Amino acid sequence: SNIEMATKLLLTFAIYRLIVTVGLTVEPTELIRLGVDGQLSVDPSDREKASLDFGMMSRVEPLAVFHPASAEDISRLVKAAYGSARGFTVSARGHGHSINGQAQTNKGVVVEMSGSRGRRLGFGKPALPRVFEEEGYVDVWGGELWIDVLRSTLEHGLAPKSWTDYLYLSVGGTLSNAGISGQAFNHGPQISNVYQLDVVTGKGEALTCSEEQNSELFHAVLGGLGQFGIITRARIPLEPAPQRVRWIRALYSNFSVFTKDQEFLISLHGHPASQKFDYVEGFVIVDDGLINNWRSSFFSPRNPVKITSFNANGGVLYCLEVTKNYDESSANSIDQEIEALLEKLDFMPTSVFTTDLPYVDFLDRVHKNEVKLRSKGLWDVPHPWLNLFVPRSRIADFDKGVFKGILGNKTSGPILIYPMNKDKWDHRTSVVTPDEDVFYLVAFLRSALDTADETQTLEYLTHQNRQILRFCDDAGIRLKQYLPHHTTQEEWADHFGDKWAQFYHRKMEYDPRSILATGQRIFKPSF
Ligand code: FAD
Repeated sequence: SNIEMATKLLLTFAIYRLIVTVGLTVEPTELIRLGVDGQLSVDPSDREKASLDFGMMSRVEPLAVFHPASAEDISRLVKAAYGSARGFTVSARGHGHSINGQAQTNKGVVVEMSGSRGRRLGFGKPALPRVFEEEGYVDVWGGELWIDVLRSTLEHGLAPKSWTDYLYLSVGGTLSNAGISGQAFNHGPQISNVYQLDVVTGKGEALTCSEEQNSELFHAVLGGLGQFGIITRARIPLEPAPQRVRWIRALYSNFSVFTKDQEFLISLHGHPASQKFDYVEGFVIVDDGLINNWRSSFFSPRNPVKITSFNANGGVLYCLEVTKNYDESSANSIDQEIEALLEKLDFMPTSVFTTDLPYVDFLDRVHKNEVKLRSKGLWDVPHPWLNLFVPRSRIADFDKGVFKGILGNKTSGPILIYPMNKDKWDHRTSVVTPDEDVFYLVAFLRSALDTADETQTLEYLTHQNRQILRFCDDAGIRLKQYLPHHTTQEEWADHFGDKWAQFYHRKMEYDPRSILATGQRIFKPSF
């Protein structure tokens, strides 16, 4: 049609402009043959947006930004990058919620996966998301945000099982890492909850993969830090969506009692649903952090609790956080089920706080605080986060050295701590975890501020992160970074350990020119 002709002409023009203005080193004929339907933009505001991320610590502008209309578009773009004499890089950007520029690239094109323009699959396939009620799964676009996945499945009374604490993250972005929250002890991380993927490899091939089909690629991509392909579609298993959530917190002053209880609760994963919690997390309170905790305003204003009333000697406190899902029809038994579980725990008497809310409100809890922080200008600030997987056998040493040592009594943000069961993680995926049956996530979710208080500055917090890593290294605590950030291939090889040879081999197989996700700084492009 005329419209298609006009679009193609405009696109050709855009590509020429790109070549002229930014010197993208591709042969013009190759790009003209691209024939994509999406929009390739060299607009400064598009490029600036793609140069930013949540961390606000790394800033790299791409040569161009691509808004794909389909998976086919992405395949054509990557084919052009792979096949061209000089080459250019291609980085998928989910929602840009990385901390260290992982979705950025300076020698090529950022593909904006989120946003309405990317939801059509092409090849005459139906629009996504698409819920298959009988089969119990949903097909979603790789750039879809989890909040939108949830909204679409809830229309059918269904929901995914494994979550992240925050839902404004893309499916492709979390599946490239692991995707963890308090459900992981029971259901495994999000990468253990995927039936099938459509992936565009670094050669531009569009392949469907699963346990049965192209299984090497399937496992490579899960937790693969974007190194092997761009996820354009994911098939996610669903369960009947619970209606409500009972959300409980309880305090501990003794770390070993706290971890004993957390480990007990996650050991119940094989039990019937009525005999375990649905979510187990926890956090560390080294100052008046609860009151400033952006993750949730649980304790206030409905529960105006003074932490000092539990913390007379000013030591470190630990807060267990659990939930139980239920439906109005089972509301009668929920109290007894919770009571039976709480009876087995040793938290400080009178320190139990309970709230009750709709399932969606619980899952979307962090967003409320995002809105609040944004209104105070406290969201778009640097985030020197540090996420660690610590082996169970050394978590007490970590407590002594870090929570009760290095931190002093300042944190600049929440510190999460919760254990997970390794047997819920598939060892064939690319992600690496400590070599023990149980390991803890410890997450320092800090915000740096430009204030006179030196302990809140980016420099101070970054230095403290290094101190924590050095302490663990010196103490022989064999941890792994989650959402890892390393800058040399040697460090990456160390990070992957036993899995490095396989990771490297997979890279040579699926992205031999190292075009994809160069912002992770694992491989240098071969041009
Ligand atoms: P981006 O930052 O856009 O991309 C991350 C990496 O994945 C990049 O290398 C990118 O190239 C690659 N990538 C993106 N899309 C694709 C794709 N479709 N195919 C292949 N590769 C792709 N994580 C948890 O596990 N649990 C949590 O509870 C949690 N809470 C968070 C809360 C906040 C406020 C923030 C900012 C982050 C949180 N995270 C959490 C971390 C989050 O999962 C990762 O940062 C994730 O990478 C962000 O997703 P994104 O869509 O923004 O990805």
